[in-house]
Amino acid sequence: NVTIKTDENPADKYNILPELGRGSFGTVFLCKEKASDLELAVKIVTYKKKKEKTMMELEIDILSSLNHPAIISIYDAFDYGNKLYCFMELVQGGELFERVIDEDFVLTERACACFIRQIVEAIDYMHSKRIIHLDMKPENVLCLSKQGNRIKIIDFGFARRYDPHKQLQVMFGTAEFSAPEVVAFEEIGPWTDMWSIGVICYVLLSGLSPFVGADDFETMTNVSFAKYSFDYAPFEEISSTAKDFIEKLLIKEPTKRMKAKNALKHEWLTQLDCISESSHKDITLSLTKTKLKRYVILRRWRKAALSVMFINKLNKLSNSHLLNSC
Ligand code: ATP
Repeated sequence: NVTIKTDENPADKYNILPELGRGSFGTVFLCKEKASDLELAVKIVTYKKKKEKTMMELEIDILSSLNHPAIISIYDAFDYGNKLYCFMELVQGGELFERVIDEDFVLTERACACFIRQIVEAIDYMHSKRIIHLDMKPENVLCLSKQGNRIKIIDFGFARRYDPHKQLQVMFGTAEFSAPEVVAFEEIGPWTDMWSIGVICYVLLSGLSPFVGADDFETMTNVSFAKYSFDYAPFEEISSTAKDFIEKLLIKEPTKRMKAKNALKHEWLTQLDCISESSHKDITLSLTKTKLKRYVILRRWRKAALSVMFINKLNKLSNSHLLNSC
């Protein structure tokens, strides 16, 4: 169990190296433990308010209670100079969706099922420990390496401990992957993660996003109706077993939605190595790949545009601050 050190400077033990990625809360850097030369990733969150600190402390606490091959493991943690440092194992394969659009990656239903199986196994493990992730989206599924098929779930910034006797509601997450109960501000629970897995699976198999609209409001409206369809060209190549798997997850009523335990027993995930199914499972999904490429590029653009907007906002703020202080 990792506890947060409050009286040590992390720079005494670690060298912080170039940035690996950035999210809305923290920045993740490559780093090296001085004593062992071990390469790690460190997420640094600068906190100004108590709430920001509490959120990151919860993320660290949750991560340190998890131990699963498909979940990022925590190594060390510090609270130093108004910053929280969370040292984690380093994942070098990049985002799952970036990997599957690689020229050399052969995208088949079998490969998709292999990824989804690992995601469901990790989620089942979390749920058995009464932890819900609440931010399952493609960016939070990384590949361990550029070659193999092993994945790691990251970013427990929204994760919560779940008590079935207490009602929990949240108003965050990414609209495209959020469940109807999140959008309606109704009770959330393990079932909320299962919806998001359904959306990830739909996108992975088709390159299309089932509920995305022109803006977040339209997306949330689409999610709240929970209406989607398989009537698009990429789905012509997809087996009915895979569609059935998605259909059992994208159900508006949370109690009717497939649980992680049952998802692991679903034919689509159990028959991964079945030879009789291989005809379907081994078709190269070329149309899906083309659509996925577009999907990934569009998301990259959106992320870049959002950070430009953020920087502009910061500039405006600092300009007005300068004017005010003149
Ligand atoms: P969000 O805004 O999505 O909540 P965040 O601020 O909580 O993001 P993370 O999603 O945890 O931050 O990390 C930001 C980025 O850093 C990730 O998208 C990923 O590219 C990279 N990253 C995070 N953890 C690791 C890791 N262990 N190894 C390598 N890269 C990582």
